[in-house]
Amino acid sequence: QVVTRFAPSPTGYLHIGGARTALFNWLYARGRGGKFLLRIEDTDRARSTPEATEAILKGMDWLGLDHDGEVISQFERADRHAEVAHEMLANGHAYKCYATQDEIQAFREQAKAEGKSTLYQSPWRDADPSSHPDAPYVVRLKAPREGITVIEDAVQGTVKIRNDQLDDMICLRSDGTPTYMLAVVVDDHDMGVTHAIRGDDHLNNAARQTLVYQAMGWVVPVWAHIPLIHGPDGKKLSKRHGALGVEEYQAMGYPAQAMRNYLARLGWSHGDDEFFSDAQALEWFDLKGIGKSPARFDFKKLDNLSGQHMAAMEDKAVLTAYEEFRSVTGENVLQPQQRDLLSRALYVLKSSAKTFPQLTEKAHFVLASRPLERDEKADKALDDVSRSILKELTPQLQNGSWDRNTLEGVLNGLAEAHGLKFGKLAAPLRAALAGRAVTPSVFDMMLVLGREETIARLEEASL
Ligand code: GLU
Repeated sequence: QVVTRFAPSPTGYLHIGGARTALFNWLYARGRGGKFLLRIEDTDRARSTPEATEAILKGMDWLGLDHDGEVISQFERADRHAEVAHEMLANGHAYKCYATQDEIQAFREQAKAEGKSTLYQSPWRDADPSSHPDAPYVVRLKAPREGITVIEDAVQGTVKIRNDQLDDMICLRSDGTPTYMLAVVVDDHDMGVTHAIRGDDHLNNAARQTLVYQAMGWVVPVWAHIPLIHGPDGKKLSKRHGALGVEEYQAMGYPAQAMRNYLARLGWSHGDDEFFSDAQALEWFDLKGIGKSPARFDFKKLDNLSGQHMAAMEDKAVLTAYEEFRSVTGENVLQPQQRDLLSRALYVLKSSAKTFPQLTEKAHFVLASRPLERDEKADKALDDVSRSILKELTPQLQNGSWDRNTLEGVLNGLAEAHGLKFGKLAAPLRAALAGRAVTPSVFDMMLVLGREETIARLEEASL
């Protein structure tokens, strides 16, 4: 069974790159009936905050990346990490090092002066335990000094690292706390992780982590180190390119499925497919499709996909996501009547808005209530001539059926009678019905609002 995990460090918000890593792991596991686990790497006590963990959980929740089992805290597993360090001591793959900071410093300076590698070589590596002092020590991995360590990476291919470039890394500090490098390996092993998909900034760590797996005789997971995300200019994605936190994208009003689609395409591809559903992503996602070069963030593409998803979503799903968006951004809760009118209008609104703020704008005619507040353009459209024409229209709407054909007949007849093109009539109608110049079609608005409300708005506007 496939087991993947997302292992963020809770030091800020859920970064867009982290969200993509989480998504890849989620897709890989969920698409194969596997498990997707969440481990919070909170060993750095000074930098880890509960607020950051909260932000990660919220971001994942919004993106719909559900994980299996409890959230695992790496920090809380410190005893287990120490236990493994002691096992490595017992099996001869690690040793106690009593070197002081000064001694290490002196070693480095001398090595530098002699033009040798400054990687620390501890004299305690081969010391007889009977010579050990009663003093604080760190536990170091007894890393091989010769040969190479090979990483078989599903994205980067075979990566070889010379062992003389790896030092005897510290696994347990002198206060008994584990280092990050040890903790990751122990946790991944204990959690049964079979595939670790993560940023390629961890590729070098993979070599050192491999040595821990070997020391413990554990199976190394399949690694897939994915290139980091770049900005449109090809430089590493940063604040100056735009938003980095997932919650900012939520606040910008992208539906979660659009975000999933977009993030999936950031560094992974399936032929020429750009727009796809979750079901398709789950079926298609594999490690082979992950590119070797960094993907570039493309805001236009995100907007585009967002529009397509919005149009493709069920009305009900749009409404639920829209109401969640309003609550996240602190907008008023929809009144029952607004909600009702909005649901009736969604069939037309959802194909003309790419994001939720755009939906708010287009939905003005159903969200606003009488007396309608009008913008400047709408005011202009309601000149005296237009008003009198609207006045003439109202009685013609009192009877007859309320459907598109009938309404088209009435409005075209009126335009003809005044020798006007329909467009000329549409402007004051938009102004009257929505208080805006840019709106859905006049007919759609009339159908959604219904006879009574339409007439009331026309009367109000023709006063
Ligand atoms: N905690 C690491 C990070 O946030 C991830 C380590 C891993 O995935 O192995 O970059």
